Amino acid sequence: MDLLGPSIPTSLQEISNEILRAAKIRLYVKRDDLIHPVVSGNKWRKLKYNLLEARATNQKAILTFGGAKSNHLYATSAAGKAMGFETIGIIRGEEYEFKETDTLKFCKEQNMQLHFVSREEYKSRNSIAYLYGLVQKFNYPFIIPEGGTSSSGMKGVSEMVEEVGQQLGSQPDFYAVAAGTGGTAAGIMSAGSDVLAFSALKGGEFLEEDIHDLLIHQKEKGRLTLFTEYHFGGYAKWNSELMDFINRFNSDFDIQLEQVYTAKMFYGLFDLIQKGYFLKNTTIVAVHTGGLQGLI
Ligand SMILES: *Cc1c(COP(=O)(O)O)cnc(C)c1O
Repeated sequence: MDLLGPSIPTSLQEISNEILRAAKIRLYVKRDDLIHPVVSGNKWRKLKYNLLEARATNQKAILTFGGAKSNHLYATSAAGKAMGFETIGIIRGEEYEFKETDTLKFCKEQNMQLHFVSREEYKSRNSIAYLYGLVQKFNYPFIIPEGGTSSSGMKGVSEMVEEVGQQLGSQPDFYAVAAGTGGTAAGIMSAGSDVLAFSALKGGEFLEEDIHDLLIHQKEKGRLTLFTEYHFGGYAKWNSELMDFINRFNSDFDIQLEQVYTAKMFYGLFDLIQKGYFLKNTTIVAVHTGGLQGLI
């Protein structure tokens, strides 16, 4: 994806305030939000080897999956176009055919072909038989799973961990990351590091098993601690407390968060720190996974 001119390695920025000093926690922010203005954060990391594989095998078209506000669809439509692929998006929810979101509008502008399916059909997105049907229907495109979450996606994320190792001179005690499909968390764990994952969805308990499955062939892997209580009502839901947190975070640290993923993770992380969850002298790298095009 050299075509897209990513800013890599992304910077690792230490932040500090009274809360962190009192708890004696060293907190760094891995600024993957700055990778690329459109294909940002973990989506760039997860797409990298998927798209390189598609190019190496001379694919014409890429087919992938997402909801009507999916940052993955947004990133794939732009990266695919820049690399000369046709792109096809399978969208969760038939109603969105007549209810355009900013994300879908952007995807169409990148010439992504959109196909709307029922929530029931969307549940089959990882079934081999269903995928085989799609492959035939759409003339043999290259399939990237939802969220770019695949072994290629995890390989891309593990490079972020290598960057941090070089920047810090060692690995932190924990990475903190927001989770949707869990691919980013799994990618970090595949590099041997321990992860605190904050579900952005309600009912995120399923992530434990999904992340475990993603790592099934991995011999060495970091440990997962999953937090499912910081979802603020569910995926893409938020309240004024979360928006206040975003504003305070921005004025304290000059770092912009968004309300779908990264603010929920940082809110949860600071809540745990204030409750004395961590031992003194713990070092944490919180990954800013981007997604700022979705900021309200
Ligand atoms: C997609 C996304 C996530 C979730 O990543 P997963 O690998 O699916 O868990 C987190 N943060 C942002 C900003 C995202 O766009």
